[in-house]
Amino acid sequence: MAVAKVWIDKDACTGCGLCEGTCPQVFELNDVAEVKEEADFNEFEEKIKEAAEDCPTEAIHLEEK
Ligand code: SF4
Repeated sequence: MAVAKVWIDKDACTGCGLCEGTCPQVFELNDVAEVKEEADFNEFEEKIKEAAEDCPTEAIHLEEK
């Protein structure tokens, strides 16, 4: 299934930077991780899912369509 939406639970994110390391095209670390506005979810679908699975606090949420 394709990724339709990606968001970060900013209260859960510890700012570890793992998601940015896995997929810098989509995730950007400021104080906490943010999803880049121009990110192409289709092109980086597998990496987004990998980042969500690997996030130590399960702060990355996906909506699939
Ligand atoms: S991997 Fe999870 S906890 Fe780490 S910066 Fe990304 S969203 Fe935050």
